[in-house]
Amino acid sequence: MINMKNIINSFKRLSIKSRMIISLTFILTVSFITTNYMNYRTAHNSVRENLVNSVLPLTRDNLYSEIQTHLIRPIFISSLMANDTFLKDWAIAGEKNIAVVQKYLKTIQKKYGFFSAFFVSEKTGRYYHFKGLHKTISPSDPHDVWYYNFIKLNKEYDLDVDTDEAAGNKLTVFINHRLTGYNGELLGVTGVGLNLDAITDMLKSHNDIYKSEIYLVDRKGTIQVHSDESIIEKINIREQPEFAGIAEKILSGKESSGMYEFERGEKHILLTTRFIPEFDWFLFVEIDEGIRMSGVLSGIKMNLLFGLFISGIIISIAIATANYFQGRISRMAVTDELTGVYNRKEFDRQFKKAAYSFQRNKTPFSLIIIDIDRFKTINDTMGHLMGDEILKQMADSASKSLRLTDTLFRWGGDEFIILTYGNADNARLMAERLRTIFAESMTGYTGNGRKKLKATISCGVAEFAKGDTMDSVLSKADAALYRAKSKGRNRVEG
Ligand code: GH3
Ligand code: MG
Repeated sequence: MINMKNIINSFKRLSIKSRMIISLTFILTVSFITTNYMNYRTAHNSVRENLVNSVLPLTRDNLYSEIQTHLIRPIFISSLMANDTFLKDWAIAGEKNIAVVQKYLKTIQKKYGFFSAFFVSEKTGRYYHFKGLHKTISPSDPHDVWYYNFIKLNKEYDLDVDTDEAAGNKLTVFINHRLTGYNGELLGVTGVGLNLDAITDMLKSHNDIYKSEIYLVDRKGTIQVHSDESIIEKINIREQPEFAGIAEKILSGKESSGMYEFERGEKHILLTTRFIPEFDWFLFVEIDEGIRMSGVLSGIKMNLLFGLFISGIIISIAIATANYFQGRISRMAVTDELTGVYNRKEFDRQFKKAAYSFQRNKTPFSLIIIDIDRFKTINDTMGHLMGDEILKQMADSASKSLRLTDTLFRWGGDEFIILTYGNADNARLMAERLRTIFAESMTGYTGNGRKKLKATISCGVAEFAKGDTMDSVLSKADAALYRAKSKGRNRVEG
């Protein structure tokens, strides 16, 4: 288990910079994820609402009308055929001239573009269609069961999806209509067969347009029309696990339309159904909610990527700013504010380094203490600001004459120290050079364009020797400086 106390303690042990970066990353991540999640929820709900309240009902009702227009015409034609006195008379007269009925059936089949037009006689069992006499039906032939079933139904007309034996087992829907004589006696069944391709194509095209699955189911639950022909009359929705609890509700037909949802594998399906009373079938329109949400999800992904990018920029800026100020603060801690050269604190560090190097490698080093002569007078006569200018000028000219290994420090007031690697002779030479350079730089120096002034420095030199400490070598250099001052200033001693 994650121990919060340990996490908080570890966090407290981190540097301020790390804590700031972690906090910033945490805040940015949490806020980006939260806003994106909230956006997603809102978009998800509105897409869902749109699907349930508009897209699905509209698709369902449009399709209902389209299917009706596709099937109502053949039903109407079958009804015309069943009421045609020619057909009645021909059957009653004993089905004598086959060519005449063939011509009649062929004309209907051709005129309306049906797959077939037929008449089956109750009296002779003969099956006539647009090509002539097709066969004589028999109750023992499974292909002819439809006839006996239909007669038993006692309905005026019915739809039958069947494989048409005469046309290479192609899927067709037949409209079977009772043909009765003038006294109501049964003469047979007439009607037309139409290729299901037209309806299947229509459903397929709608599948593409609406990105949905559309199919027709009969009252028993068997799929009768589907874009995937291999499952027609093979799948019963009552046997599909995802329809458990729903199938009964839909097929009981108490409501003309309904809205349902269920899981199919990974998919969340929204389903709407509508009862088609003319055929006693149900129209099913399914939409995979995930596909509809993919647009929303890709938008959210883009937002998250953009958020990540922006967070990266913000965190980089924060790191750069923190580094900049950290650098500045560390520099400020070891430098003198007025002159910009190192201060006493840094002298301690560098002195220790030099002393260590002396002990280890016998590397000689010396100190030069520099003090501006009569600086008090300069301050008094020219003003404190001009005094500051001269201090800066001193630091500037000294820095310019230093070697890379030498370091200049402000010791305090008008005193500076140079730590130089080399013996006392080298240091004296260097001090002498510096004294000259400074005096020259001051000749004619008018500061802020005011009075001319003259400033000089005195230097005390001491080389670090075996047994020396920081205090002892500083005392030696101080004593040398004192001598330089006593001997009249503007000189180097030690
Ligand atoms: P000497 O030749 O003996 O060194 O005489 P001096 O007048 O320079 O005497 P001393 O070195 O003791 O005086 C240092 C003066 O420097 C005292 C103080 O007023 C002045 N001072 C110290 N710090 C600053 C500063 O930051 N700016 C200015 N303008 N003056 C400073
Ligand atoms: Mg002085």
